[in-house]
Amino acid sequence: MRKVIRKLGRIKLVLIITVITIILAELLAFLIPYTLGFPYVSPDTPVITALVTLIVTPIASWYLLGVLISLDKLEHKMNLLATYDSMTTLLNRQPFLEKSELLHNKVTLQNSAYCLFFIDIDNFKKINDTYGHAVGDKILMKYGEIVKKIFKKEDDILGRMGGEEFGIVSHVRIDKGRELAETLCKEIANFKLYYHNEPIQFTVSIGGYENKDKPNISLKNVFRNADEALYRSKSQGKNRVTFFSD
Ligand code: GH3
Ligand code: MG
Ligand code: MG
Repeated sequence: MRKVIRKLGRIKLVLIITVITIILAELLAFLIPYTLGFPYVSPDTPVITALVTLIVTPIASWYLLGVLISLDKLEHKMNLLATYDSMTTLLNRQPFLEKSELLHNKVTLQNSAYCLFFIDIDNFKKINDTYGHAVGDKILMKYGEIVKKIFKKEDDILGRMGGEEFGIVSHVRIDKGRELAETLCKEIANFKLYYHNEPIQFTVSIGGYENKDKPNISLKNVFRNADEALYRSKSQGKNRVTFFSD
């Protein structure tokens, strides 16, 4: 429906509906007296039928199309809200998981490889506590901007898992994946956010896992491996990239 409305426009659609309704009304105005055997059919009937339909249909259809357009816009807005995190503009957790599952199944079938990364902002609670939540929010937004600049392949899947935790699925081999993750880590560490003229810096820890040559591995286990690598990044001092295989 959305496509039809967008293609024709509200005015054209009202005209089309009115013309069709007039034709149908004329047909019924002829068939009903004919089948019911009314003895005196007025010669004015076709004119009156056309006039009444011409007055009523545009008003009713204009209003109903308006309601449909509003519903359509609302549905579009709700879909966007369900799919994308409004702060970072990355995918929400559920759509991220669904897209990852699709890529995982496709790549595993092709005996190809991909990398999964888990990213966690370091000491984020301290940043919030020191500078306030608004600054924390700005940092989350900045992460969204930076990650999109670096992981910019069309099929890269970038998501916010929740809070200050993010995921990336990229259809690349480990060498390229490591290079991209290191770039992300460095770009973030070099970025300065100014708060009352004071530069604030933040870092991320990244855990990566290259999924290859394992036709039967579940996505859940891929996630577990990347999570373990992230845990190692944290325990080895944060602000670094660790692969599960390292
Ligand atoms: P670590 O280096 O070990 O990851 O420590 P951390 O402080 O980053 O981790 P912790 O789990 O202790 O704290 C995460 C904080 O993230 C706590 C929570 O208030 C904050 N947070 C979660 N979501 C948001 C958000 O949308 N905006 C802001 N400003 N803070 C958030
Ligand atoms: Mg965390
Ligand atoms: Mg953290």
